[in-house]
Amino acid sequence: MLIYNQVIAREKVMKKLLSGVLALMLVVSGCASKNETSGFKAGTYTGSAKAFTDEVSVEVVLTADAIESVTVTASKEEGPGLGAVENLPAKIVEAQSTNIDGISGATITSDALKAAVNAALESAGVDPTTLVAKESTAKAEDKEIETDVVVLGAGGAGMSAAIEAKDAGKNVVLIEKQATAGGNTILSTGGLNAAKTKAQDENTFEENAGVEKTLATAQESYPELADLTATVKSQYDEYLANPTGYFDSVELYELDTLVGGKNLNNHELVKTLCENSESAIEWLDSIGAPLTSVGSFGGASVKRIHRPVNEEGKTVSVGSYLVPIFVSNLEEKGVEVYYNFAANELLTDDNGAVVGVKALGSDGSTLTVKADSVVIATGGFSQNTDLVLQYRPDYKGFVCTNAPGIDGDGIEMAKAIGADLVDMDQIQIHPTVHSDTSALITEGLRGDGAILVNSEGKRFFDEVGTRDAVSAAEVSQPGGFAWLIVDDKMAQASNVIAGYIKRGLTVTGATVEELAAAMEVDGATLASTLETWNGYVAAKEDPEFGRTSFAEPLDTAPYYAIKVAPGVHHTMGGLKINAETEVLSADGAIDNLYAAGEVTGGVHGANRLGGNAVADIVVFGRIAGTNAAANAQ
Ligand code: ADP
Repeated sequence: MLIYNQVIAREKVMKKLLSGVLALMLVVSGCASKNETSGFKAGTYTGSAKAFTDEVSVEVVLTADAIESVTVTASKEEGPGLGAVENLPAKIVEAQSTNIDGISGATITSDALKAAVNAALESAGVDPTTLVAKESTAKAEDKEIETDVVVLGAGGAGMSAAIEAKDAGKNVVLIEKQATAGGNTILSTGGLNAAKTKAQDENTFEENAGVEKTLATAQESYPELADLTATVKSQYDEYLANPTGYFDSVELYELDTLVGGKNLNNHELVKTLCENSESAIEWLDSIGAPLTSVGSFGGASVKRIHRPVNEEGKTVSVGSYLVPIFVSNLEEKGVEVYYNFAANELLTDDNGAVVGVKALGSDGSTLTVKADSVVIATGGFSQNTDLVLQYRPDYKGFVCTNAPGIDGDGIEMAKAIGADLVDMDQIQIHPTVHSDTSALITEGLRGDGAILVNSEGKRFFDEVGTRDAVSAAEVSQPGGFAWLIVDDKMAQASNVIAGYIKRGLTVTGATVEELAAAMEVDGATLASTLETWNGYVAAKEDPEFGRTSFAEPLDTAPYYAIKVAPGVHHTMGGLKINAETEVLSADGAIDNLYAAGEVTGGVHGANRLGGNAVADIVVFGRIAGTNAAANAQ
């Protein structure tokens, strides 16, 4: 898989290098500026400098009076950290200087690139420190505004916070780096985990094996969770003695989350997440976003993931459903949103209390917002290759499932004023990322009955195990990838699968043998794998890999398969917060500063369960918005 992903990454590198050169040519052709301090010896010069994992090499062309072009000739810095490779050469030519800001989220690569250009300039006898940067001519007017609450990032956490703060009667400004709202939230295909909801009670309880397996795992592997395990055990025994409704509890949800997170989680945050999950569902309902379909999902003992359905009753992707509803709530309630502004500095007073934020517009203008409270909701840092590799060099060359802009800006801004970070090396790889496109294939497919087979057409693991375990199992298969198999019955019941088929992510066959041919695996082996699996479904027992959720047999043609491999998906670490979402430093809570969502660390421990990110952003986003509003008196 590594080799495969490196091929993809390299293709991306070439595309990005090419676009970088094109952008540069455009700038150069329209560039009449010249640096007063120049007087160059015309020619082509080269320079190199060490970046995080590799060297960046550049070629710099000088005319007698200008830096005519900068071309990156070699950089193995892969993935979105390439923002520097893509954008910085043009900026250097435009400014006629390397004395400019690097690309946010790619600081190590930016610094290396500037150092490489400096080396080239020096070899031409130019002292780069004497080149004064020219101001961009396209710069719009700088702005300074005041508000009660400013929220950074219009993903699910930021929008939940902004809506709550606005509903509490405050003036709210929301700053978003991209041209549109959504972040990673909009990519989320799963749903929201919540315990003890009305929607769960619509289901018949058949998940005894799931609960019993979790209790056994907790007893064996987590003796330190004995009290919580005992509470769940007595709740379960009580339910079995008198089964009414569907069995779940806040404590079982806590136990699942802690076992899933290898008990590295912050217990206070987990408790808060689980206790407030049911009210998150109620709140979403109240703002026009009911999540009524409940299903099984990896790592959950019972049916707990709440998903939206369309008019035909089919489940739809949660993110693309929620984001437009959040956005229309922002509009209706009058939250002031600034798109295309990237917050880059928290403003503090003499006591270290946060008093506002500075942001840089894509047009080069600055926006300064003075505020009583600041909520950071800028998401994680999966797209910041430098930062990912700093903590996980073993993820070099992996694909990334995230939206653009998920660069860890909030982490860097808060760290600059003393915020503590936690669990930064806990970076989740998602087990089912489409190998060719990096599209994330929802875990819900496995919960709803799909199986994984390897390149030999054989099952190899409990498909609904935790993400890290399933990912590791895939990596150890021949070729490091797997095929996710669904049948037409599943495809008919899910708009999500229909979407995958439409986007060309599947191969298909009218029979199992035809599917096997499309997958280039042995037909008889795949047929026997499916037959065996369907037997396990009928018996509700998987003696080979211990899977405990079965749904329906895979027996309805046509059959579909999606080629999947693990990709960098979620950063569990980030800013240290308490249950009130206050950002913590070594000296305690930083005044007026709150954070929620993927930018924070501690909720998910060593592994985030599917359905817990959406729960996290809504639960903690709401708390942050409420507390930020209360703080703004
Ligand atoms: P969460 O799931 O925690 O809500 P998302 O990834 O959904 O996180 O959303 C985070 C949002 O923050 C994205 O829309 C992203 O573009 C935005 N963002 C990231 N960095 C900045 C920044 N420096 N300033 C403003 N917005 C930012």
